[in-house]
Amino acid sequence: MTKATIVAPSLGMQPSAFRSASIFDELGMKQDPDNLYLQTIDAVLTAAEILELPHHLKIILAQPKNEIMVHFPVMMSDGNYRLFKGYRVQHNNALGPYKGGIRYHHDVSLDDVKALALLMTMKCSLARVPFGGGKGGVKCDPRALDSAELMRVSRRFMAAISRHIGPDVDIPAPDVGTNAQIMAWFADTYQTMVGSTSRNDALGVVTGKPVDMGGSLGREKATGQGVVDVVSEILPDMGLPLKGLKVSILGFGNVGSWTGRLIESMGAKVIAVMDHTGGIRNDEGLNTETLALHVAATGGVAGFGAANSATITGMHTQEGAEPISNEEFYRTPVDLLVPAAMEQMITPQNADWIDAKVIAEGANAPTTPAGERKLLERGIEILPAILCNSGGVTVSYFEWVQNKTSTYWDVEKVDTDLNRHMVMAARRTQLARQRYEVDLRTAAYIAALEQIGKVYAMRGIFP
Ligand code: NAD
Repeated sequence: MTKATIVAPSLGMQPSAFRSASIFDELGMKQDPDNLYLQTIDAVLTAAEILELPHHLKIILAQPKNEIMVHFPVMMSDGNYRLFKGYRVQHNNALGPYKGGIRYHHDVSLDDVKALALLMTMKCSLARVPFGGGKGGVKCDPRALDSAELMRVSRRFMAAISRHIGPDVDIPAPDVGTNAQIMAWFADTYQTMVGSTSRNDALGVVTGKPVDMGGSLGREKATGQGVVDVVSEILPDMGLPLKGLKVSILGFGNVGSWTGRLIESMGAKVIAVMDHTGGIRNDEGLNTETLALHVAATGGVAGFGAANSATITGMHTQEGAEPISNEEFYRTPVDLLVPAAMEQMITPQNADWIDAKVIAEGANAPTTPAGERKLLERGIEILPAILCNSGGVTVSYFEWVQNKTSTYWDVEKVDTDLNRHMVMAARRTQLARQRYEVDLRTAAYIAALEQIGKVYAMRGIFP
């Protein structure tokens, strides 16, 4: 692979100096260097500048089309009522209906949802799935809600946003803190609200549903599968075959655990994992299937294999794991680090500790601009999120197509078509990198923006 000769200008920015400052001023946006939305749009606009996109497209993309904010009351199991805040941001629909997950997390904020919606616009374009970008969230701690409360929150949120979404308008999906069961409640609520004549068509209003209720085979593992497809496409050319590859994973939820299980099945060794409960390490390779069962039973990786940890070094067994600190996790020498937890987790401090050759971003926006600058200076390659984690939205697209045509695909077809999309997205990114001599994140944005620019040029701007 060609070495980057131009590092995206945004990566070299000073904390208070965005590359796109003039556009932020033009749009009256307050310039906070730690703001995830500004960091994200600054990197996208930098790519737009290199691509010489017209100014009017830059200002269109710099703000979402719609920002919907709702407050809704829910009765808790103790009989008291709580007021919840929810968001749905619709960033851009030039390429198709808005598409993007809904997150349940106590830190959900409008600007974070805006950043994630923008990344969806870029991701769908790069993957060439006919969707625009959206994202949503409810500010809550799903682990602190019982199942009945979770159902009422989900149904009430769906009712609150129902007139803004639809199978041809805006199609939510799972994200952090949400799952197939919550998608089933969303779909049922929406179907009930639209009435019996549109009931069947309405099933496609969300993706990531349970397979028995219009979901697609292969959707649950799709994001992890996509990460592994991209890594398999790119790493061998860098002299890093998957067999024997040493991997560490930050976050062991949907994306992290599937990436771990699938990459292990291809001969790699997952030697360190960290989530919100702690970190664990086993240089012989953790048994990721057993670890996933442990996480499902206990809520996190902490304590995994503790009973066997004393035997790890002596017996070379996969069964145990040693607890490690946050710093020890990042300092673990690996070929590949997969951040698959939350945004902005790779900072300049832990970027100095990271002992990896390549980072494949399973999570959205896991790397801060300052962290990224350090990593690139140290020669650590970053495979960007809009490429690596586009497998989820790609299989969501397959689910939507299956719903529209009342068909079910077998898992072999899903996996084959997903692999083709991932390989093509990786090639588009590498091609843009070679053509424009930029880092891979900027290249992925350029490849995405090329398509959006082309479509806007054909459509023009109404009226
Ligand atoms: P998840 O809720 O299943 O898992 C999140 C993981 O992050 C958990 O293991 C949790 O312990 C860990 N985590 C949270 N806070 C942490 C902290 N402070 N330190 C260490 N670990 C922490 O969520 P997910 O669906 O796997 O999503 C993970 C990331 O991938 C998010 O950025 C999400 O937007 C992105 N993503 C998800 C999908 C999908 O299909 N689920 C698709 C594309 C992108």
